[in-house]
Amino acid sequence: MRFGGFMIDMDGTVYKGGVSIPGAKDFVSFLKRRGIPFVFLTNNSSHGRSFYLQKLTRLGFDVGMDNILTSTIATIRFLTTQRQGMTVYPVAVPDVVEEMRAAGVPLVEEDPDIVVLTFDTSITYEKINKAFHFLNSGSELIATHPDDVCPTEDSYDIDIGPFIRMFEQMCQTTATVIGKPNRLMLEMAAGELGVAPEDTVMVGDRLTTDIEMAVRAGTQSILVLSGETDMEMLSRWGKAPTKVVDSVADIPGLIGNRSRLPVRAETECASVRKTDSRRSPRALVAARKAFRRTSGGFPSF
Ligand SMILES: [Mg+2]
Repeated sequence: MRFGGFMIDMDGTVYKGGVSIPGAKDFVSFLKRRGIPFVFLTNNSSHGRSFYLQKLTRLGFDVGMDNILTSTIATIRFLTTQRQGMTVYPVAVPDVVEEMRAAGVPLVEEDPDIVVLTFDTSITYEKINKAFHFLNSGSELIATHPDDVCPTEDSYDIDIGPFIRMFEQMCQTTATVIGKPNRLMLEMAAGELGVAPEDTVMVGDRLTTDIEMAVRAGTQSILVLSGETDMEMLSRWGKAPTKVVDSVADIPGLIGNRSRLPVRAETECASVRKTDSRRSPRALVAARKAFRRTSGGFPSF
């Protein structure tokens, strides 16, 4: 197995609920000892990054803030590099709103260029309705990730996916989605690791996000069976991760004495570049707002 750096899912991969998976802390220590860069990835945008740092630290993992990439942070990077200066109405919990504000995203309560939809566990009718009006007036919709459900200790909670579909349908728009399994998240993570996207290895327990992202991007992946997937689900899925292991405790054995690939200079986001070769996002939003204004604002329902 060739590797430049590791992207590691959290829930079901290094911990389950509030308990670390046996061997997970040793796996992280192994990566650190060998100087192999790694970043923990989560699509869950219902908490700020410091929440995950505190949780991992509490569980005994030797990690820092730089080792954590949430879909919110990836979205903030996207906004500050690809939507520079454009105003944002956040649909988010207070911690995540603060995370965006602290990163310099211009947040507004009226007439935003962009509505950013996160996994907002404090969502209200007022927020939904405001976003609805903004999108109908031509604001762009950006969502942190696409998951329909979020795993809990013993079940699943409703996540962001149904809200994305509601806004897309009601406002006749298409969301830009940042998190797993989209390539943007992988490219952001590769940038954090300082390696080319194709030199990353994604480690995770969920087929439709963790492994799907790697399959789509043509990178390597390791499916761990310590979370929500079993071999029967894998065979029904019809696509294949590069490796399947019982848990992350088995990964040092796969790596053995192999060295990581050298750092490459080229770590730019190819898909972002593609987006930017078209008309600028600011011009698109302005044109959409003008059109919606002259056409009465609301699409016919
Ligand atoms: Mg998981």
